[in-house]
Amino acid sequence: MSDLILLEHLTKVFMKDNETFKAVDDISLNVKKGEIVALLGPSGCGKTTILRMIAGFERPTAGRVILEGQDITALEPNKRKIGFVFQNYALFPHMNVFDNVSYGLKIRRFSQEEIRKKTHEVLEMVGLKGVEKRFINELSGGEQQRVALARAFVINPKVLLMDEPLSNLDAKLRIYMRAEIRRLQKLLGITCIYVTHDQKEALSIADRIAVMNKGKIEQVAPPFELYTEPKSLFVADFIGQANIFEGKVIAFKDGRLEVSIYDRVISARFTSSSEFKIGARVALVVRPEAVNLTRSDESALKGRILSSVFVGDRMEYQIELEPGHLIHAFIPYSQETVRFSHGEEVGILIDPESVLVMPF
Ligand code: ADP
Ligand code: MG
Repeated sequence: MSDLILLEHLTKVFMKDNETFKAVDDISLNVKKGEIVALLGPSGCGKTTILRMIAGFERPTAGRVILEGQDITALEPNKRKIGFVFQNYALFPHMNVFDNVSYGLKIRRFSQEEIRKKTHEVLEMVGLKGVEKRFINELSGGEQQRVALARAFVINPKVLLMDEPLSNLDAKLRIYMRAEIRRLQKLLGITCIYVTHDQKEALSIADRIAVMNKGKIEQVAPPFELYTEPKSLFVADFIGQANIFEGKVIAFKDGRLEVSIYDRVISARFTSSSEFKIGARVALVVRPEAVNLTRSDESALKGRILSSVFVGDRMEYQIELEPGHLIHAFIPYSQETVRFSHGEEVGILIDPESVLVMPF
């Protein structure tokens, strides 16, 4: 697949408290045709500013935006064939659903017949058939969200930019709409850049995720790879949950590292890009689901149960290794699952395959 959109060294400098500050710092990213790429990162890391530069509402300080091989960095927003769905939807409250959705076609001077046909098609597709005549304030949050989607889809944009489009919906609807957006995006083959600060939303909706921190991209990868092969501590910590420990490299053995934590030696995996020396301080990343608990004595690490919470499909434990040092363990729940109680001494088993070593 070819690149539909290409960001080259995109940079935006703002003035803040009388000083210049890089809201977006040398971002390069490609998005292939039909792909949905999420920009994921904490609030203030520059996500919205990137979308605004792609849409043409903000002029980059440096760098270029390339669409289908053409430099569009200086092109007027309305000449870019880019659709936008905002967090607050920006719908017209004094117009009904049909007029909201068909607005983009009217200003592009489509014929009455085409406007009727295209608008009805897209309303049917997003599940809004029958509510054409209703006004925006007569709709639920979920319906308003669908109107915003329909309005973006109807002009058949080359790229659809979505900025936290689900943040005004309640938790249940948000999860439903994630799947719905992905379904429609794939059905239409539309290319999409999707901004969110919610890692679960990014994992469930995107083909690839660009994790951002302070104006920079830390890593771009498909969801599974991002979770299993995070390239930095920031990514490991931001995606899913992670236990992070400080350790020291003791030895190399069979393609693994032997690392000491709390005076015990455990074996750990490392990504090929990282280099470690004997004696180096390193970070160990352990996912809670890679931690198991036992009453038998064979395990190297020991701890005391500080809390246990049943969340339906699993038990979530907090175990104290040493005063002030905790490890989280998620144990899938079934009838046979051994349950540990508060205060109990337990052995901690860590699957070495799931321990990742990183530079601190
Ligand atoms: P995000 O969408 O990831 O939350 P934004 O792109 O909105 O982040 O903002 C990134 C940073 O740039 C923030 O610190 C924000 O305060 C700052 N910023 C955004 N727009 C402007 C502006 N027009 N003038 C000055 N600072 C801005
Ligand atoms: Mg934002």
